[in-house]
Amino acid sequence: MGSRGSGSDRRVGRRAVLLGGGVAVLGTAALARDELARAWWRLPGMEKKRVEGELDHKGAEWTSAARANWRRADRPDDYVIDRVVIHVVQGSYATALKVFKNPGHGAAAHYVVRKDGHVAQMIRELDVAFHAGNRDMNERSIGIEHEGFVDRPQDFTAEMYAGSARLTADICARYGIPVDREHIIGHVEVEGTDHTDPGPHWDWDRYLRLVREASKKPV
Ligand SMILES: [Zn+2]
Repeated sequence: MGSRGSGSDRRVGRRAVLLGGGVAVLGTAALARDELARAWWRLPGMEKKRVEGELDHKGAEWTSAARANWRRADRPDDYVIDRVVIHVVQGSYATALKVFKNPGHGAAAHYVVRKDGHVAQMIRELDVAFHAGNRDMNERSIGIEHEGFVDRPQDFTAEMYAGSARLTADICARYGIPVDREHIIGHVEVEGTDHTDPGPHWDWDRYLRLVREASKKPV
């Protein structure tokens, strides 16, 4: 699970650090365009229309998170989406839905995957979910929670891996995100986090293989 970001500055400098080598290729002109695109989004009438209950991932069930646990945005036009962050709830599917619906929780993910592979969508992908505890990462990523506990490998069922892999493959295909460990990361790998999920029992090799297999099949 995530905790509310501690207000890291929304600056190009910080973004440059996170992007690493990519920035050298992009150059300052691209970064300036990036900032301009965000300025455009702030003009009235630039927001996309949204419909209650509309889904980004076919087959998911819509159940909305509390409004306080995410921020309205217009991704990928205002922020590029280039990361998927994998979480483990440290609790049940029902617990995740309950806390994400609690406005006092201050955090929620876009998706929650149940042990039987069922997927709930709680926040639209165009919006910024507070799941990674890092503002830059929240703005550039989709967060996926998984039912279970990090110290219980039996919680990570074949059905859950498969359902989650189909979801991640779908996200990667829609935004052109490479299926690799640089772009599909654990919450533990987010800069500045004190969270350990998905933990040592999450089988990354298996997961990436399943995502690649799902990527080959039409959604
Ligand atoms: Zn987490």
